[in-house]
Amino acid sequence: MAKIFCVANQKGGVGKTTTTVNLAASLAAQKQRVLVVDLDPQGNASMGSGIEKMGLSQTVYHVLIGLADIHSVKIASETGGYDVLPANRDLAGAEVDLVEMDRREERLKDALAPVLTDYDFVLIDCPPALSLLTLNGLCAANGVIVPMQCEYFALEGLSDLVNTIKQVHANLNPDLTIIGLLRVMFDPRTTLQQQVSDQLMAHFGDKVFKTIIPRNVRLAEAPSYGMPGVNFDKSSRGAQAYMQFGSEMIERIKTM
Ligand code: ATP
Ligand code: MG
Repeated sequence: MAKIFCVANQKGGVGKTTTTVNLAASLAAQKQRVLVVDLDPQGNASMGSGIEKMGLSQTVYHVLIGLADIHSVKIASETGGYDVLPANRDLAGAEVDLVEMDRREERLKDALAPVLTDYDFVLIDCPPALSLLTLNGLCAANGVIVPMQCEYFALEGLSDLVNTIKQVHANLNPDLTIIGLLRVMFDPRTTLQQQVSDQLMAHFGDKVFKTIIPRNVRLAEAPSYGMPGVNFDKSSRGAQAYMQFGSEMIERIKTM
């Protein structure tokens, strides 16, 4: 039975998609069966997995509003070694369409149910907002992975996310917990980043993942080749860090 993780942070450009596709590729390289759910109308996780988003006639949008079956929409990522439930701009309409629907926060959870025995991990890439789409991600998940840059305002933004997660936990999904905070785009030479990292550890203790993802240009280059960085340049420091993060997650789910 798959464990489902939502990669979320309402702040834009903090490394959610990079974390989703590289964790997926890392897990796949370690013999795990993985499904990536692209829950962002930007479709970056789809593109970064080598899936041409504009050519798709059916996407996660059609699955969410009940117009398509998940089995007919998921596609294999050749460059990633995992499956993808892809997204494109169509998904922007879901915010409006879902409002009127029954179980509007639980559409993704219901849609994933029939495929959970096919995977070990489901990773959901959320958009940069605490929107109905993100709520669908949080309702479907067993846990949340929060990528963050160790910057001055990072902790402030975190409290909104933590409050939303608490509310979802209390009202919609008693399973939900923060699995961990992942420090990304880290530059150890920056004193401020080191200080914020220390504060994080002091506040959140073992909720902070041991693995640290460095700032590494190969990770940023990989999406333009439609490949996760983990497979684009295996020897890069970024790829190695995400491989290690995959191992940390495999260990972590043994205790769940
Ligand atoms: P959005 O909120 O728009 O969905 P996001 O949180 O998904 O953004 P990404 O798209 O993963 O963030 O990353 C933002 C930018 O930073 C991208 O250009 C990405 O290639 C780059 N990036 C992410 N992680 C790293 C890293 N460790 N080193 C260098 N560049 C990185
Ligand atoms: Mg993204």
